[in-house]
Amino acid sequence: MKGFHFKDCHILQKEVTLQLVYFQYCGYTTPENSRLKNHVMSVHQGVMPYACDQCDYKTNEKSDIVRHKHKHLGIKRYQCQFCNYRADQRWLLVSHCAKQHGVQLPRVS
Ligand SMILES: [Zn+2]
Ligand SMILES: [Zn+2]
Ligand SMILES: [Zn+2]
Repeated sequence: MKGFHFKDCHILQKEVTLQLVYFQYCGYTTPENSRLKNHVMSVHQGVMPYACDQCDYKTNEKSDIVRHKHKHLGIKRYQCQFCNYRADQRWLLVSHCAKQHGVQLPRVS
């Protein structure tokens, strides 16, 4: 995006059902002016203040990084039936149960 400056953008108020802010430069549309500013900063100026510490995901919105981090937690879908241990891979749960509870879980691929 060479030669691009935020001040060059044209914000049009589109009078449809919603008042949308339309960014001509790339066609991004949003109901909120502040979101457009975030969009420009992140997508066109590369400003990503929120980075995930578990992968290389970056975002300009705090709510996005919170939601994103929940995804990492959600990956831990194997729940131990004897305690509240959770694992993201089945073999981890199998070895946990063997070690902690002396229970040999059936190996399912
Ligand atoms: Zn854009
Ligand atoms: Zn992540
Ligand atoms: Zn357990």
